[in-house]
Amino acid sequence: MIPLAIPNIAGNEWRYIKECLDTNWVSSVGSYVDLFEEKFREYLSTQKAVATMNGTAAITLALQTLGIGAGDEVIVPSMTFVASVNPVVYVGANPVFIDITPDTWVMDVDMLEERITEKTKAIIPVHVYGNMVDMEPLLKIAKKYHLYVIEDATEALGSEYRTSDGKWHKAGTLGNFGTFSFNGNKLITTGAGGMLVTHDVDLGEKAKHLCNQAKTTLPNGDIVHEEIGYNYRMPNILAAMGVAQLEKIEEYILIKIKNAKLYHSYLQNIEGIRLPKEKENVKHVHWLYSILIEENYGSDRDELIKKLNERGIGSRGFFQPIHTMRPYADYSKGAMNNTYRVSKRGVNLPSSVSLSSKDCQYICNTIHNIHRGCL
Ligand SMILES: *Cc1c(COP(=O)(O)O)cnc(C)c1O
Repeated sequence: MIPLAIPNIAGNEWRYIKECLDTNWVSSVGSYVDLFEEKFREYLSTQKAVATMNGTAAITLALQTLGIGAGDEVIVPSMTFVASVNPVVYVGANPVFIDITPDTWVMDVDMLEERITEKTKAIIPVHVYGNMVDMEPLLKIAKKYHLYVIEDATEALGSEYRTSDGKWHKAGTLGNFGTFSFNGNKLITTGAGGMLVTHDVDLGEKAKHLCNQAKTTLPNGDIVHEEIGYNYRMPNILAAMGVAQLEKIEEYILIKIKNAKLYHSYLQNIEGIRLPKEKENVKHVHWLYSILIEENYGSDRDELIKKLNERGIGSRGFFQPIHTMRPYADYSKGAMNNTYRVSKRGVNLPSSVSLSSKDCQYICNTIHNIHRGCL
């Protein structure tokens, strides 16, 4: 089986985790937590990074740190993983769904202003599958309406966006907060884990405080809590794995981009296959290489996915629209034409770092043969 997205563990993971076990520093305090936060912060060139137990906690912590709560509205895409949206409800706010563009498959910034009301407090742009939301116009709108921006940058770790002044910015560093997940299928993994980053030192320190039960140690050693905090901390063992994974990130990104180019070259001439759009101001890391199956391909999407999986090619349909799911059916939404169309036609193809060029060729040949009606 060629898996959709599995971890690559080939560096210092064993060594660093063993060190945690040998020294007894296994829990939520320890030098690897500090080191992982520091290295991650450095990698993204932000002021502050806070390690969390998963990506969902990082998004929840961002909302809580910004004081978003009951009655507030937060604009979110519908075509994303549900973890981008659930935290909005956890804090008592209301998600307001917005459509995607037909070619980048991420939040359509042109539709933003019509979704804003006097209750809107924040926008959560999600950089789906490694592509990026058009951040410059989004930030302009956020500024105009005094809205916070929390980038769910999980799938675009390493992707970059060029602003009109010519500067490149890594995904997750353009908003008030950027959030990441290190679940097993992401670019780098800690088994389970997450990270919150920000350029704002005060906000970053507040987030770190809330992440650790809002704990304050008095000069005499007594511990007090002046507000309600949470336990979202990442254990030292997982942070040790994160440090080892982060040492390999540049290598992993180069492999992902190389594999995306291979996919592109093999698939570009097959009728009815729409390839991911790469805008010239975005460096797209292609966390999951993804395609659309159009009417003229000759087989419908579900049939294609079934045939691929039967031949040992781990593939899957796109995220289904969250606003159509039972818990979200009653929340506000605008036109969702692109969300419906893209989520019904999209296919994620195997994208692990360990994917070989031979695997890639086999996958593309299979897609070609299904198109020709040979399989
Ligand atoms: C994986 C993912 C998350 C968070 O995942 P956790 O499993 O909570 O670590 C959030 N948003 C997106 C878009 C994701 O892909």
